[in-house]
Amino acid sequence: MADIQRRKTVTVKIGQVRVGWEVPVVVQSMTNTDTADIPGTIEQVASLALAGSEIVRVTVNNEDAAAAVPHIVEGLDKRGIRVPIVGDFHYNGHILLKKYPAAARALAKYRINPGNVSIGRKDDDNFRTMVECAVENDKPVRIGVNWGSLDQALLTRMMDENNRRPDPLPARDVMMEAMITSALDSAKAAEQYGLGHDKIILSAKVSGVRDLIDVYTSLAARCDYPLHLGLTEAGMGAKGLIASTAGLAPLLLNGIGDTIRVSLTPKPGGDRTEEVQAAQQILQSLQIRSFMPQVTSCPGCGRTTSTYFQELAEQIQTYLRTSMPEWRKKYPGVEELKLAVMGCVVNGPGESKHANLGISLPGTFEEPKAPVYVDGKLYTTLRGDTIVAEFKQILDNYVQSHYGHGAQRKELVGTH
Ligand code: SF4
Repeated sequence: MADIQRRKTVTVKIGQVRVGWEVPVVVQSMTNTDTADIPGTIEQVASLALAGSEIVRVTVNNEDAAAAVPHIVEGLDKRGIRVPIVGDFHYNGHILLKKYPAAARALAKYRINPGNVSIGRKDDDNFRTMVECAVENDKPVRIGVNWGSLDQALLTRMMDENNRRPDPLPARDVMMEAMITSALDSAKAAEQYGLGHDKIILSAKVSGVRDLIDVYTSLAARCDYPLHLGLTEAGMGAKGLIASTAGLAPLLLNGIGDTIRVSLTPKPGGDRTEEVQAAQQILQSLQIRSFMPQVTSCPGCGRTTSTYFQELAEQIQTYLRTSMPEWRKKYPGVEELKLAVMGCVVNGPGESKHANLGISLPGTFEEPKAPVYVDGKLYTTLRGDTIVAEFKQILDNYVQSHYGHGAQRKELVGTH
């Protein structure tokens, strides 16, 4: 498989995390708590970081939120969580950053939306104030253009110019160009106001998959700033996951994108860390980065009339997810582990042989036994009510013997 040639960019430091072509694509996320709720926000940032979010953004939308920021960063620090916290500003960032210098210092990066920082003004003094604050505090900035809040004065001007052309472009093309112009012109202005070239990340988020691919492909060709990729307002459930994957995959495979966020709408009371898992899974499915052991499982069919095998696949997946925070520290390389959980012997043994560990459950009318393969060889055959517990034990033994301290891909020492 050919390596992906990442687009060359400058490298931007956000706290201790680097973003750019020299380092792996970074996963980030955003909280949905009220930032003024300090314990609630600390809790959610901690869970996002634990799930693997390498940068976490919080909204800084009012004075209470700005006042809370240093306490959130301090609270996280006390818990040993050093994930960089990014402040998301709209409309009033110039006021909040000036009035709350402790927040300006505590944040690792500021997100500026050029579409709403100077609404109704002829000058860009508000934008300039935010950039100067970033310079003063030695912070990087993301210039985050969003088509839902695109600079209307710029768009109107470009639409008018387009209408005067003998061969006007479609309105959609002018909109895409306006987003790129907004991002690039704002970056140029930020540099004129003293921000370093290596302190700028750009994004141009849209909610349509093909628009996303087009706008980022064009933006990538016209600058060397790192790009933050994401489909804005991706949606709920399968729609959000599929649309995000469909939009991000072609760009990432073309080497475009240095940090990603998957903007899923959670179910009420849903788990916010799903967006982190989704971002990791996109990168891992594309073989760009590995985050956790992968489970191959078949879809099941008429040969698997019971739900036993689906339950096993789910239990193994959950077990991996809950074990990974500790395994990641204790067992370097464990994220490369491959498992197969199959519903019957038709494809079960074959798929199992391609995995490090594989199990094929008995299908309907098959003998009630579950052959387990380890590194391509039949290792044991499990029977009865303890199949799940015994398989987890084999998994634990494999992880310890292959990824533990001083492990050298040893033969599994089993109990059978
Ligand atoms: S492996 Fe067996 S149970 Fe799974 S889909 Fe194929 S035939 Fe059906």
